[in-house]
Amino acid sequence: MRATTIHAARDIRLTDVATPTVASPTDAVVKVVAGCICGSDLWPYRGENPIDAGQTIGHECVGVVEEVGTEVTSFAPGDFVIVPFCHSDNTCPHCRAGMTSACQNAGFTVSGQAEYSLVNQAEGSLYRAEAPGDDEAALKSLLALTDVMPTGWHAAVAAGVRPGGTAVVVGDGAVGLCGVLAASVMGAEKVVAMSRHEPRQEIARAFGATHVVAERGQAGEDAIAELTEGVGADAVLECVGTDQSMRTAFAVARPGSTVGFVGVPHGVELPLRRMFQKNVGLRGGMAPVRAYLDDLLPKVLDGSINPGLVFDAVRPLEEVADGYRDMDERRAIKVMLRP
Ligand SMILES: [Zn+2]
Ligand SMILES: [Zn+2]
Repeated sequence: MRATTIHAARDIRLTDVATPTVASPTDAVVKVVAGCICGSDLWPYRGENPIDAGQTIGHECVGVVEEVGTEVTSFAPGDFVIVPFCHSDNTCPHCRAGMTSACQNAGFTVSGQAEYSLVNQAEGSLYRAEAPGDDEAALKSLLALTDVMPTGWHAAVAAGVRPGGTAVVVGDGAVGLCGVLAASVMGAEKVVAMSRHEPRQEIARAFGATHVVAERGQAGEDAIAELTEGVGADAVLECVGTDQSMRTAFAVARPGSTVGFVGVPHGVELPLRRMFQKNVGLRGGMAPVRAYLDDLLPKVLDGSINPGLVFDAVRPLEEVADGYRDMDERRAIKVMLRP
């Protein structure tokens, strides 16, 4: 099959690799209808993660079940499915506690930007949906459920967003924008998107942002202080993963609040003294995608959320390298790929 592979920093290729097959009774193979590029794919793309040259890349896809193992009884070839990027059996103690991303039998989508993808724990991971057919907007929103929307939702859950009050979202990537949407759905009265990019500000507003703060660093912190009458935010969603974004998150969090973090941390040093003095907590991590789909899929289907808006570009799989370049240079927010 044709699959996206990474060979070195900024060296993305579409190459022929072995088509995945069912090797274990819990496996399923999914024929990819749409995949996409994730902000976290940019870490290896920029050479900030170690690269195993020639390895497939891409962990987000939706598609049609092609083949299932003998222990997969709820899904059959032909089913249209959402593939959570982290696979889980949905039966182990961690899954039963809702933390499916830490499943004792966890697996991950490793060829989401390809023609086929293997799901290790198909029975507990997959989520059936009506095939969107030619409805590209519907396809985009279902694709957003494989990672970005549940991850933004997780940031809001971890930060303890409740009705009323102020939620600040640090980061205007697709996850940050979905965090804005989540905070808005959860009823925050003021939802502040920290973004200085016009097209992203526009989506943030469409997702329910009541305020946009374009300033960064001290100026950004001052703007949040002004918006909250010097008190600070009741909930902060950190959706980037850098030291700077974490610093900003803690600087704008009011005493006693929690920072919900979902950006993969790179070189972050926590401000423990501030956390201690102001009683500000930190919660979050890799989103338990499967656990949130019961909640999120109905919201997509009834139109109350439209997370697919984060996809501002669609390319054929052949142009995957251009898609990476566009996201790296911030010319695209999130690129959907069609095999
Ligand atoms: Zn992702
Ligand atoms: Zn499990």
